[in-house]
Amino acid sequence: MPDRVYNFYPGPATLPFEVVRESFEKGLNYNDLGMSIMEISHRCAPFNQMWERTQEDMLDVMGLSGDEYVVFFLGGGASTQFLMIPYNFLSEGQTADYVNTGRWAVKAIKEAKLFGNVNLAADSEPEDFKHVPREYDLAPDAQYVHVTSNNTVAGTQMFEFPQTGDVPLVSDMSSDFLSRNIDFGKFDLVYAGAQKNIGPAGVTAVVIKKSWIERSKEGIPTMMSYRTHLSKNSVFNTPPVFNTFVVGLVMQWIKRNGGLEGVQQKNDRKAGMIYDAIDGSDGFYSGVVRKDSRSKMNVTFRLPSEGLEKRFVAEAEERDLIGLKGHRSVGGCRASIYNAMPVEGVQALVDFMEDFRKKS
Ligand SMILES: *Cc1c(COP(=O)(O)O)cnc(C)c1O
Repeated sequence: MPDRVYNFYPGPATLPFEVVRESFEKGLNYNDLGMSIMEISHRCAPFNQMWERTQEDMLDVMGLSGDEYVVFFLGGGASTQFLMIPYNFLSEGQTADYVNTGRWAVKAIKEAKLFGNVNLAADSEPEDFKHVPREYDLAPDAQYVHVTSNNTVAGTQMFEFPQTGDVPLVSDMSSDFLSRNIDFGKFDLVYAGAQKNIGPAGVTAVVIKKSWIERSKEGIPTMMSYRTHLSKNSVFNTPPVFNTFVVGLVMQWIKRNGGLEGVQQKNDRKAGMIYDAIDGSDGFYSGVVRKDSRSKMNVTFRLPSEGLEKRFVAEAEERDLIGLKGHRSVGGCRASIYNAMPVEGVQALVDFMEDFRKKS
C-alpha cells in the first residue's frame, strides 16, 4: 500500500496532510491533560478554549464579526439543515425561494415543502443541471432565498449570488465552503457538512446572523431550534468534539496559507489545469457542464465511451489517483479538488490524462 494516495473522492475527502498529522500529535495527549481530545469533557476549560477559538477563527477567515454572526458546530450533516432552516423560518401559508441547481438542492426543496410553499426562483433541472442560472424570479414576500453555491454531483458552481435586498439569503456551501474569497456579509445563513472542505465527517458548520435567529419560530423541538444553539453557544448537548477540533486545525491551516485569497488562488490554478487538459484534448475529454458554470471544486468530464471511462478510472487508481468515478446519475468521471488537494495531485492527474489519451 502506498504511503499516501491522491484522493479525488467527493466527500469524505482529502484533508491537508499536515492537519491530519497534527490532529494525532496534538490530540493524543491534549494540552498535557493526560487524555486525548476524544476523551475530554465538553464542560471543561480546555474544551471551551478549543471551541471558542474554532468559532473565532472561522469567523475571522470569513471576515465576519462575532457581534453579528455566530457559528454552530452541529451533528446531523448538511441534510439536517435542509429541514432545520424551514423549521425555524417557514410556516404554512408562507413562501421561501429556492434555486434548484442540483441533486442536493432537490433534497433541500423536498424538506422545505413539508413546512410551507416553495417558489422555484430558478431551475436548471430541465437541462440536467448543466448550468447555474443567473436570473432569478424571486417571490415578493419570500421568508428567505436558498441557493446551493456548488453542486457537487453535476460539477457546477454559482459565481453570482441573487440580490435579495432585505430578504435573508441562505446558502448550502457544503462543497465549496471557504474555498474562495467572497463577501460572506451578504448571507444570513451559510452551512456546510465538514467532510468536503473543512474537516472530517460528523460535524456541520452553520454560520448564522444572530438577528435572524431572533425572528425564528418559537415552540419548535429543542434540538431543531437555532434559539437553543444560540443560547448555549452550540453546546446544548454533547457536541462533535474531535471533529470540531480538526476543523479548528483546518482554520489555522487556511490562515497560514494566505486566508481565503490564498486558498482561492490555488483553487483557481488547480481547476484551470484540469479544464485546460479537457479543452486541449481534441475532444477526447469533454466537460459535462456549460463553461460559464464550471465548478472549481468538482470537475466532471466524459471520455468517448463508457468502456474507456472504466479503464481510465482503473488505471488512474494504479497510479495512486483514486476516487475519479463520476456520480451514477451523471456517469463519466469526476475529480473533486477541494482546498486540501495539492497542486502536485492535480499535476499528477493532468499528466495521467495526457498519457491515457495518447495511448488510447
Ligand atoms: C455532500 C453534500 C450535502 C450533504 O451533506 P451531509 O453532511 O452528508 O448531509 C449537502 N449539500 C451539498 C452541496 C453536498 O455536497
